[in-house]
This record gives sequence, C-alpha cells and structure tokens, in this order.
Amino acid sequence: MNSKAQLQEQLRQRLERVHERMAEAAVRANRRPDDVKLVAVSKTHPAEIIRQAIVAGVTDLGENRVQEAEAKIPEVGRQGARWHLIGHLQSNKARRAVELFDVIHSLDSAALARRLDRACGEMGREELPVLIQIDLGQEATKSGAAESEVPEIIDAIRQSQRLRLTGLMTLPPYFDDPEQARPFFRRLRELRDELRAQRVFGESSGELSMGMTHDYEVAIEEGATMVRVGTAIFGARESKTQD
Ligand SMILES: *Cc1c(COP(=O)(O)O)cnc(C)c1O
Repeated sequence: MNSKAQLQEQLRQRLERVHERMAEAAVRANRRPDDVKLVAVSKTHPAEIIRQAIVAGVTDLGENRVQEAEAKIPEVGRQGARWHLIGHLQSNKARRAVELFDVIHSLDSAALARRLDRACGEMGREELPVLIQIDLGQEATKSGAAESEVPEIIDAIRQSQRLRLTGLMTLPPYFDDPEQARPFFRRLRELRDELRAQRVFGESSGELSMGMTHDYEVAIEEGATMVRVGTAIFGARESKTQD
C-alpha cells in the first residue's frame, strides 16, 4: 500500500469514528443523527490532504484565517465542499472572505456586518449566510460579540441587503474536562431559542455551531447542529492556531 492509499484509509477510518460518536451523542439526546453536520477543520493542513478528505467523504471544511485560505481554497476548489470561515475576521479582509467562503461563522460586530454587506454588493454576491459568534466566556482573549451586543448586530443584518442570519456560534474557554463546557453550550442554545421565538432566523430554526475535537459530544447533547472538528480527523497540528 502506498502512502497516499494509507492516508486515504486513515482519513476514512477517523471520519467514520467521528460520525459514529456524533450519532451516539445525538441518540443520547433523543436527536436525529442527520440533524448534526460535521465541519472538518482543515487549518494548517495542505491542499493535498484536504482533497483526500473530500474523497473520503468530507462535505464541509472549516478554515480560521483568510490569509491561509487565500492560498488553499483556489487550489482545492469550491466545487468539492462548502467552505466555512470559523476564525476572527478583520474588516479589511471582508472582501476576500466574501470571495472565498460559502458561510461565515464569526460575525462579531455590527460594523463587520455592514462591511460584509457592502462587499457582497461590490462583488455581485446575492446572499451570504452568517452566524453570530458569541463570547460567553468573558475571557481576556475574547473572540466573539458580548451577549449585550447581539441586538445591534441583528439590526445591522436586518438592514443589510444580502446577509442572511442562519445561526449562532461559540467557542467556550478550554477545559480539560469537556463537561465544564456544557453550561456554555446550553447558554448558546437558550439564546438561540429566544432569538428563534423572535423569528430572526426566518423560516429556519437557527443553527448552533459549537463543539470541537475534545467536546463535540457534549455540544451535540446540548443541541449543536454543526460541530467543528479538526484534530480528530486530520491529526494534531504542528502549530497551535486556536483563534
Ligand atoms: C481550530 C478550531 C476548531 C477545531 O479544533 P480541534 O480541537 O482541532 O477539533 C474549531 N473551531 C475553531 C473556531 C477553531 O479555530
């Protein structure tokens, strides 16, 4: 067996294992396994590996930096999978993000919403699905909007021509014990339920993008509809880019 075939087999097995565990977590919470989507986080991994992951069955890919994605996405192509931006987006990169990504999980300010809407107009893009990233951790290294900022972000999306709010995203503080992340996932679900009651997600019920390699099962038990899993699929990254 050559190394390409070995890699292919390894990716296939890891994906199968993640899908199994996702399904088990869904069933524990009386949910349907089909209601949870896997976003394979490919940051730091080269285009060649990503192509193999698509062959192994990956349909959605997550990248956290526009600059890195700029090199990789054109190489892998847009046809094989949907591309999700999951890391902080600086407003001077809004145009590039609109060009490269299918979905943005990291909308964290009203100003960025206005910027993205303008970029969509300039590039002739009809619609951009976005999730609001909410910081529930009150950390010093804050990523995401505070809960108190959410109404003004929703207003900016309402006033936009091309942004469509599809859900909420969070990245809880890191805990060795994933059980400690549970209250953060639960809080995001409660917020989603409150916003859904106000019909801010239109006809859809509101996605919950939450859970990574070490806590995706807990996130699914708490209602995640998209989990963002990197290490369990692609193996450990050489450099940590946790943004
Ligand atoms: C890197 C990253 C992930 C995936 O992390 P793993 O622990 O490798 O599964 C998920 N979400 C965000 C925002 C990330 O930056």
